[in-house]
Amino acid sequence: MSIDKNIKIGYAGSCERFHDEGHKSTVEMPKWAKENGLNAYEYSFGNGIRMGHETAEKIRIEAEIHDILISGHAPYYINLANLDDGMLEKSYTYVTSTAEMTRSMGGHRVIFHSGAQGKLKRGDAVSRVVEKSKILVERIHERGYEDMTFCPETMGKIGQIGDTTEVLQICKTWDHFVPCVDFGHVNSRTHGGLKSVGDFRDILDEILQEIGERGRNMHIHFSKIMYGKGGEVKHLTFEDTTYGPEFEPLAEALDLLNFTPTIICESAGTQADDALYMKKVLETYISRA
Ligand SMILES: [Zn+2]
Repeated sequence: MSIDKNIKIGYAGSCERFHDEGHKSTVEMPKWAKENGLNAYEYSFGNGIRMGHETAEKIRIEAEIHDILISGHAPYYINLANLDDGMLEKSYTYVTSTAEMTRSMGGHRVIFHSGAQGKLKRGDAVSRVVEKSKILVERIHERGYEDMTFCPETMGKIGQIGDTTEVLQICKTWDHFVPCVDFGHVNSRTHGGLKSVGDFRDILDEILQEIGERGRNMHIHFSKIMYGKGGEVKHLTFEDTTYGPEFEPLAEALDLLNFTPTIICESAGTQADDALYMKKVLETYISRA
């Protein structure tokens, strides 16, 4: 039994073991990920886009050789609820510049955080984000990245725009939007709401209901996350037994509904090993040929 070939599993950022084993450059990452049994890698431009095209090209070649699917995470400071037009244009550019670098690395999927509620009423902030997403789509077309996939992410802090329903509202505005559900985030903003297979299945059902078949190729971020009153506090490792969520019920729900996602682990330091754990769990659940 092996996992469905369309399911990709990997991790984001650089893990402790990668460095402990003497590696430094992201260019070495595809080979290392492959040697560790994985087939996806997400490069984070969270703190800014500083990579040059020469490095991106080297990563592209390595990812191709080692069959690693690359995705790119846009800078964290995007806010489509911003009231200032100049700041909004910057947000659009963060997304399209991430697309540019991700394409250079040979990837075609960009993950972004859509915004924060700020001083606005929740409903107003959400409709603003949805309206501005349409302008973002125009910018994506103008700059020639409309063949790529863009994934608004569910967020861990309650003040951030991005529960599952809000993310799906954005996704409904364009057929190249696919949700990135960060189940650790959803669990944090609901104070531990994800426990049973049914809890996870409800989210997958909502995705199918709102955007149909393309939802099966959703993007997933998975890690255990400490939370408090306002939601997310910090990312943990799979050693945590207090906060969750557990991966097993999600694996079962994904199998039941025949989802073929890309799953990216964002554990704090142990993301490659935890990603491999998820792969092993999926292998026990998924019985399709
Ligand atoms: Zn994110």
